[in-house]
This record gives sequence, structure tokens and C-alpha cells, in this order.
Amino acid sequence: MSRLIVVSNRVNPPSGEGEESVGGLAMALAAALKQSSGIWFGWSGQTTPEFTGHLRIETVGGVTAATVDLEDQDLDEYYNGYANKTLWPLFHYRTDLAAFDRAYDAGYRRVNARFAETLRPLIRPDDLIWVHDYHLIPLARELRALGVKNRIGFFLHVPWPAHQVMINLPRHRQLVEAVFDYDLVGFHTPEYQQAFEDYVLNEADGLVAAPGRLKAFGRTVEVGAFPIGIDADDFARLVKSPRAHRMRDLMTACTVFRHLIVGVDRLDYSKGLEERFLGFERFLTDNPDLRREVLMLQIAPVSREAVEAYQEIRGRLDALSGRINGEFSDVDWAPFRYVNKNYRRDELAGIYGAARVGLVTPLRDGMNLVAKEFVAAQNPDDPGVLVLSRFAGAAGQMPDALLVNPHSAEEVADALRRALAMEKPERIRRWRALFESVQREDVTAWRNAFVAALAGDAALQAAV
Ligand code: UDP
Repeated sequence: MSRLIVVSNRVNPPSGEGEESVGGLAMALAAALKQSSGIWFGWSGQTTPEFTGHLRIETVGGVTAATVDLEDQDLDEYYNGYANKTLWPLFHYRTDLAAFDRAYDAGYRRVNARFAETLRPLIRPDDLIWVHDYHLIPLARELRALGVKNRIGFFLHVPWPAHQVMINLPRHRQLVEAVFDYDLVGFHTPEYQQAFEDYVLNEADGLVAAPGRLKAFGRTVEVGAFPIGIDADDFARLVKSPRAHRMRDLMTACTVFRHLIVGVDRLDYSKGLEERFLGFERFLTDNPDLRREVLMLQIAPVSREAVEAYQEIRGRLDALSGRINGEFSDVDWAPFRYVNKNYRRDELAGIYGAARVGLVTPLRDGMNLVAKEFVAAQNPDDPGVLVLSRFAGAAGQMPDALLVNPHSAEEVADALRRALAMEKPERIRRWRALFESVQREDVTAWRNAFVAALAGDAALQAAV
């Protein structure tokens, strides 16, 4: 069995304590790394005034973590700059928010080159290298330049945008050419894979050499859709935990005679929070008879506060949530709770479990794991209803949710009304279908399928 090297911007293997706050992805990668005595390489999260290239190697919860500090300028130009101000908005169809700046471009290339140089001495000839996400697209290119011949795979955790969106990026060909230094590229959905193919065919004189094999820039790359899931077994354990029980009881106590509608998202403009708040406002306006029967709870921990677009949307959400409560509250009642605190996943399991409706309406989302966690947390005898954006990657796997266009306040309001009125037999039928796919297409299946394809192991691929 080859050793696995995982590379991602941040390195966060579960330490064995407080695992309730560690996501399924980290757990799944850590399990594969333990099995193959592998290494998880990336940024330490620290910066220094000058780059030192000093590699810190430690064992965290049985996983070897190799991290490097970046320099202050890298944080501005690579992380906050090219990754979060250029690629993130562009890949989520927000060309209006994308900043194009040569300094960001240079910072992105510089950090990828630094990562490659620091990682190079750790690589053994038969290691499999698995690179994650939009921060590190050119990493294979830099590793190849240093003579690395290993199989290198890349998985994109965000959408790959449509061809006409992608070409808004200055020097887009350069970025896509770098993708062809990988052996295997994984997307969440067939749509993202198709969008990549469209670019390659239309913009790079490429061709489909065989199904799932694209040729361009004189090289061939294997592409595939690998939809990520949650760690369903671990989430089932969280659902039964004492903290989840306490939280469920607490939420049930504060929604007596009312239905809880819940949203849980990082505070990000891609999550459609403004549109969701307007959809809830529309629902309250259109349904005076139901006003006193619901409470909407939106949990939205702040993120990427150094980026202006995030500060701006936070201000708008503060105003909008205040307006909705001002408009509809009474002395003894308020319709909306908006919370910027971060909750542990066992607490979220309890909150989801107390809700009649999970409202997951991103404008664009690579996959969206909250939708899957909401389903996994429901009581099989009396499950809640998932209202899901058709623009979340998860929508393709979850046709039994109520799928909505998140831009339409009317559609969101109608879906809320329908979800609240839905009889138990229909709720159970829809939930069973959703839960079956959440369990089957979980994070372990995702990891095994990608690693088998990267290893080129036909027997393993047939087994997953
Ligand atoms: N999450 C959390 N605490 C919070 C809010 C969110 O632990 O207060 C977790 C949530 O349980 C989920 C993840 O953050 O596992 C969000 O993943 P998702 O794919 O939905 O969106 P992303 O933030 O990766 O864009």
C-alpha cells in the first residue's frame, strides 16, 4: 500500500479530544493517513515577517502533521487575496465581488512554489499525493518543476464555474493549464466536471480522449465526480450524545406550540443569507395565520473578517434581521433569532433534531454538508423537512428535499408553507430516501473512491 500525502491550505487532524468540533472531512482524511502512515502537509496558520521555510513535524492524534509558517505578505496576497478575494467569489459566480490584482496572482504562485519546495524532501517515490482545494491549484505544476513524478490528485471543494464565468479571470488559461499537471482531478458533481470540460474544449483547444479523460496543453488528465458526504456513523453518535440531548430539550422548550425553522451557515455571501431572510419575511407577510406558529433560528458564525465583502454583508444582515423582528414582533413574541456564535457539531445535532424545517438556501455551494447533517439528525418517526437550494452541489443527490430557487423570496416562502403543512407520511417517505443517500454516499465512500482512482487500482475502484 502506498503512503498517502494529503496537502491542504490548513492542517487540522483531530487531536483525539474535543472531536465534536472537528468536521467529517478531517476525520476521514486522518483515518486514511493513519492507515498508510502518511503525512498531512500545509500551512501552520502562523505568519512571520520573513519566510523561513522551517518545517514543523509533529504527531497529532496518530497523524503526522508537517506544517510551515507563511510570511505576513503571503497572508494578504495569497490567502486573503487570490484565494478569498479572487477565486472564491469567481468560483461562486460573484464576478462583481472578485478582485483582480497582479500582486495577488504573484502571491498565489509564490506560496504554491514555497509549499512545493518545503514538501519536496518529504516525498518518497511511491507516495500518492492528494492536493485539496482552490488555494493550491498550481501545486502539481510546481512539484513537477522540481522533478516529482508521483501520481498527484486534486480535489476541488468548491464549484467549478461555467465556462463564461471562468473567462472573467485574467490569465485563466494559465490556471487551467496548471490543472493538467495532475493525474486525476475530482469535482463534487457531474455539472462541475462538465463545466471544466466545456472550458477545455472551448478555450484550450482540448478534446475528450475517452470518457473521463481530457487532453489539452499536450497532456492528459483524468477527471471525475466524487460527491463528498458526512461521516454518517460519527454523526449518528453525535445525535445520541448528552450535549445533543440537552440542546434538543432546550430548543423544544423554547418553541412550545411553535415550529422551529433552522439555518446554519458560515457568514458568507455565497450562502444566500440575505435572500433567505427576505424569503422568511415574505412568508410572514403572506401567512398572517402562521406567524405565531414559527420561530426561525439562523446560526451564522462570522468568517474571513479581514475581507471587506464579509464585513459588508454582516452589516446588511444585522439590519435585515432587526427590520424583520421590528416589523413582526409583539411584546410576548419574536419571529427571528439571528446568532453569530459558532456551535459544536454535537450541539448542532441537537438543534437540527428539534427543527421542523432545515432551510439551506445557498446561491452557490460546492456541496453543502449542513443539508446532510440536518437529515442525519432527524427523528425517523417524526422527521423534519429539508428545503434546499437547487444551486447547492448536494441538490443532485437530494431530489427528495423541497428544492427551491434561493433568489426567489416567493419560492422560499411557498416552500416554507408547504414544509410546515406536510403530513407525517410524506415527511417520512422523503426523509427515508434522503437518509439512505446520506448514509450510502458518506465521507468514507468519497475518500475510498478518490484514493482508488488516484492509485489507478481497478480492483479497489470496483469495490467502492
Ligand atoms: N459548523 C459548525 N458550527 C457552526 C456552524 C457550522 O461546526 O456553528 C459546521 C457544520 O456542522 C458543517 C460545516 O461547519 O459541518 C459547514 O460545512 P458546509 O459544507 O455546509 O459549508 P462550508 O462552511 O464548508 O462552506
